[in-house]
Amino acid sequence: MGSAETPVIEVAGLTKRYTGVVAVDDVSLSVRTGQIYALLGLNGAGKTTLIRLLLGMIAPTAGVVRVLGADVSAGDRSAWARVGYLVEAAAAYPELTVRENLEVVRRLRRLPGSADDIIERLALTSYADRRARTLSLGNLQRLALARALIHAPDLLILDEPGNALDPAGVAEIRLLLADLAHQHGTTVLLSSHLLAEVARLATRIGILHHGHLVGEHDADQLDHHRRRHLHLATPDDQAAQALLHAHGYHPEPATPTGLLLSDPRALAGPAQVATILVHGGVPPTELHLEEEDLEALFLRTVAPETEEGIGYA
Ligand code: ATP
Repeated sequence: MGSAETPVIEVAGLTKRYTGVVAVDDVSLSVRTGQIYALLGLNGAGKTTLIRLLLGMIAPTAGVVRVLGADVSAGDRSAWARVGYLVEAAAAYPELTVRENLEVVRRLRRLPGSADDIIERLALTSYADRRARTLSLGNLQRLALARALIHAPDLLILDEPGNALDPAGVAEIRLLLADLAHQHGTTVLLSSHLLAEVARLATRIGILHHGHLVGEHDADQLDHHRRRHLHLATPDDQAAQALLHAHGYHPEPATPTGLLLSDPRALAGPAQVATILVHGGVPPTELHLEEEDLEALFLRTVAPETEEGIGYA
């Protein structure tokens, strides 16, 4: 178990149907040791439901889940000793201090030592003696992560771990998770609705939409999927278009004015485009490379029928 060949998480044909909605619809995926796998989806895509299925918190309507080599069925907690998780709002005993909260978890898990190591690791030292109910949301989230990590799990499953954290907190968690995966071989599965954020952390990204897994990408391949074009402003767009056409390019009118070129030759050699226009008597007044951002790529993937950003909540 846990070898590079045996997936840490294996999901096949997984479906969860509620009255009137299929929250997770025939999803199959696998996550390998040491991977940071991000489930990406808009609100209501089915991320939390899928995570709860992985943890055996709810029973599937159909399909199979294997975690760390063992079948997961609702109520079966056998793999949980090696799994850390954070699902839903960060839960803590409000009247206990941060240290007491973690001591409870440590004793329940029969771990030796003290909670001080994990308190330090999650930058909670200065809050260790504060009651949980007085913590900010960000620090509550840190406490929840400390609970998830206290037993050095092989697999960490986190539902929207960046929620409630400020940008510095998000960056801190990113470093912590990257360190766990790279230094300790911990496998991480997390969910998020922010592609730009997970692209900086995840090694593989699965896109969930209306319960379907609509795409999977290696994070380092994402760049290849972005749309790029050269945007030109000229004194006479019609003349410039005809000129570029005559040189084998395929310019399109831009809105409200100007031209767009997405020929690979134009993207690789903007100077040549400028030279043609200068020699043809329509020198460009502007020429720049525009690149689709990651959120636009994500929205295009989940809603190919719309080119622009769409009104999802
Ligand atoms: P969010 O980012 O908003 O948390 P999500 O991607 O985690 O969204 P889920 O919470 O898994 O999405 O919900 C997926 C769909 O299943 C939604 O349409 C939701 O209303 C529905 N759903 C989830 N849990 C239940 C339930 N217990 N009973 C009925 N419908 C449910």
